[in-house]
Amino acid sequence: MKITIAGSGAMGCRFGGALFSAGHEVLLLDGWPAHVAAVNASGLRIDNVDGSQVVRVPARLFPAAAEPADLVLVFTKATSTASVAAAASGAIGPATLVLTLQNGLGNIEALRAHVPESRLLAGTTTLGTELLGPGHIRALGSGETVLGALGSGSSDHAKRTVLTLSAAGLPARVADDTLGVIWAKVAFNCVMNTLCAIASIPVSALGRYAGFDAVASSILDEVAAVARAEGVFVDKAAALRLMKAQFDPSASGSHLASTLQDLMNGRPTEIAHLNGAVAARAAEHGVDAPLNALITQLIQLLEATWPARVNQLHPDTH
Ligand code: NAD
Repeated sequence: MKITIAGSGAMGCRFGGALFSAGHEVLLLDGWPAHVAAVNASGLRIDNVDGSQVVRVPARLFPAAAEPADLVLVFTKATSTASVAAAASGAIGPATLVLTLQNGLGNIEALRAHVPESRLLAGTTTLGTELLGPGHIRALGSGETVLGALGSGSSDHAKRTVLTLSAAGLPARVADDTLGVIWAKVAFNCVMNTLCAIASIPVSALGRYAGFDAVASSILDEVAAVARAEGVFVDKAAALRLMKAQFDPSASGSHLASTLQDLMNGRPTEIAHLNGAVAARAAEHGVDAPLNALITQLIQLLEATWPARVNQLHPDTH
C-alpha cells in the first residue's frame, strides 16, 4: 500500500516506521527541516526495549507535491491539523482514506475540509512514543489503536485499515462507537494531562493526592455533559478507573504527560483542543463548564510564563 504520514513527529515516525518495515511504500511528511534531513541522510532510528534499529524510510518537507496515497495518516499536534492537511493535500486523491489518531477535539472537523466523511477514519491510540532528536524516536511499551468510520463512512474501510496496522505490529481493532472512543480519551486527557501539567508532576504522583477523586469527578461531569449535548456518552466511572490504573508506577512510572512536556520544551500545548474545546463547545450548547474554562486559562498562563517559574525559595529571599 502507498501510505503517507502527514506530520511525522514521534507518533508519525512510529507508525510510518512500522508500516515501512512491513513492506508498504511509506513517505514521511514533516515541517522540521533538521528532522527530515536526518531521516533521509541516516535513516529513522527507532529505540525500543529490544535495542535499536534503523529504518530507511524516505521523508519530505511540507508543503509536499506528494502523489495520491491509499492511506494518509495524520499525526501532527491538534493545533496544526488544518495547516498540515492543507500542506499534504496532494497526497489525498479521490480514493484515499484519511486516518486521524490524534488527541483532542477538532481534528475531524479540520480534516472534513480535505476529504469526504465517507473516506475519513478516526480513533485513538495508547501506544507511547518519544521524539529524542532529529531522526530518532523511542517506542515505549505496548498499547492499542482503536479506530472506526464516521457518519456515512464504511466499516469496511475501518476493518481494512485495522488489518494493515495489525499486520505491521501495531495492534488495532475497530471501534463500536468512534466518537465515544475519541471523547473517552479527551476526558482522560482533560483531567490527567492538565492536572499533571499544573502540578508539574509525573502521572504516578497524582495518586498521592487525596482530593483526586473530587477534582477529577467535577471536571468529568462537565466533559460528559458537553459530550451528551453532542449525542456522545462518556462513561465517568470507567474514565476514573482508567485514570487510577495509571497511578501504579509500573503503568506510568515517571511518564510526563504531553501537556507538561510541551510546557517544558517551550512548545504550544494542545489545550485549545482539550479543556479549551470542551469549554467552547459548552458555550455553544448552553452547558456550564467553568472548571474546563479555568483549567484552559491556567494552562495558557503556564504557557505564557513557564520560563519565569520558581521551584524553590532562594535563600536570599527569606
Ligand atoms: P510530536 O511533538 O513528536 O511532533 C509533532 C510535530 O512537532 C512534528 O511535526 C515534529 O517534527 C515537530 N517537532 C517536534 N520536536 C520539534 C523540535 N524540537 N523542533 C521542531 N519541530 C519539532 O507529536 P506526537 O507526540 O507525535 O503527537 C502527535 C499526535 O498524537 C498528538 O495529537 C498527540 O497528542 C497524539 N499522541 C501522542 C502520543 C505519544 O506518545 N507521543 C500518544 C498518543 C497520542
